[in-house]
Amino acid sequence: MPRRTKIVATLGPATDPLVTPPGQTAAGHEEFDYTVMDELVDAGVDVVRVNFSHGTHEEHRRQVESIRSRARQRGRQVGVLMDLMGPKIRVCLFEQGKVELTAGQEFTLDTEMGGADGKTADGHQHAVGITYKALPEDVKRGDILLLNDGMIQLWVTETTATKIHCKVKVGGTLSNGKGINRLGGGLSAQALTEKDLQDIKFAAELQADYLAVSFPRDKDDIDRARRLFNEAGGEGGIVAKIERAEAVASDEVLEGIIRASDAVMIARGDLGVEINDAELPAFQKKIITRTRELNRVVITATQMMESMIHSQMPTRAEVFDVANAVLDGTDAVMLSAETAAGKYPALAVKAMDRVCRSAERQPRARKSHHRIDSVFDHIDEAVAMSTMYAANHLGVTAIAALTESGSTALWMSRISSGIPIYALTRHVTTRRKVTLYRGVYPVSMPPDINEHENVIAEVIEELQRRDTVRVGDLVIITKGDKMGKLGGTNTMQIIRVGEE
Ligand code: PGA
Ligand code: MN
Repeated sequence: MPRRTKIVATLGPATDPLVTPPGQTAAGHEEFDYTVMDELVDAGVDVVRVNFSHGTHEEHRRQVESIRSRARQRGRQVGVLMDLMGPKIRVCLFEQGKVELTAGQEFTLDTEMGGADGKTADGHQHAVGITYKALPEDVKRGDILLLNDGMIQLWVTETTATKIHCKVKVGGTLSNGKGINRLGGGLSAQALTEKDLQDIKFAAELQADYLAVSFPRDKDDIDRARRLFNEAGGEGGIVAKIERAEAVASDEVLEGIIRASDAVMIARGDLGVEINDAELPAFQKKIITRTRELNRVVITATQMMESMIHSQMPTRAEVFDVANAVLDGTDAVMLSAETAAGKYPALAVKAMDRVCRSAERQPRARKSHHRIDSVFDHIDEAVAMSTMYAANHLGVTAIAALTESGSTALWMSRISSGIPIYALTRHVTTRRKVTLYRGVYPVSMPPDINEHENVIAEVIEELQRRDTVRVGDLVIITKGDKMGKLGGTNTMQIIRVGEE
């Protein structure tokens, strides 16, 4: 039985290390060693995240091209999610790379330091530059600023036009480029920065399957990103990262964001800093439930296997975290530094794979919540729902959805079940998009499948070739009378293998 929950792995220095070939010296003669990337694909990664917060376009292009070609060689489909940096406010550079802050000392965030490009290393024990020059206008005496994901806390004592004077509440090591959040959120920075605009064009050029928008405040930020992405030729889905207090401040704002996107990411790192870590579990459950109800896809992210950055085994708490996200109904679980910069990228994926499969075997993970109260907007949505109802009550072995855009498979996968859903499509963009949907597996179909005489027999043959169904098994196939028309699914057929 294939794993239903999808695994997203972030690429980084650990996945394509530079090596110097024998007989050469470094400095421009290095080559990339794709062993780790291959291991990730073999371990079952479904989607990779390319992080615009680090690295150059040249590196990002290489990551996207190489993962696609490595996956193709292995007969696998791997989606590419490109993640914008967004307006993450950061401290600039220190003379010594870092400082040690002690509780009680004074420390100033100074917009006049750091140089015009933010690259001057002039930070010291008592002050450092910041990347967002309007920050002094956004904060006031009494605010708490959280640095380095909340490890360091500053209490604002006074602000001027260019400086934020603080007293250190919780000390620690503060190093170059660490992020700044305000407890409770409310910083005015625009969701899309100048850099993001360039990166959106680049993501479109590389045909990213998903574009992730960091720190959206509301649905308008998502709409704008989608418009720019589409204008640049991008066809992938838009992922809203829920990581700002404003985004979860009311059900209305949160739902607006979910409806405006194709998928959401519960970005627990930044969200936890803004709303308090103790609030996270309740929000995770709520966001997963609501996102599925609204027919969107949801990724649970950050620190899921954090200890595996250094260790070959997850902690018990991490095992529970991944399993609980699966039981909550998440489509995908994500690895960040574990794969991008950790010591054991492939082991982290394998550990996640193991934990997901076990959790999926629990009856709770397969329980179907029939959407009895909902009214369906589309004929194909009604067919998808009827299929799941029949499948869950008839003991069906597999579902095969002949689809153009993948939406039939998406609707089906919003209903929990243990039955695999095969999305059969001639479009590579659709095959890559469904890599993120829980319980949905992409299958390639010939481009002229619409004109084939006996499509049903071909589909059954394909499923048998994959060893997913045997003679005597029941299969449900959905398709449109006129295949090739978007949203054209209007029939479902229940077939007993061998009798087609
Ligand atoms: P990041 O987003 O890894 O890009 O910061 C995820 C998070 O904030 O949890
Ligand atoms: Mn984040």
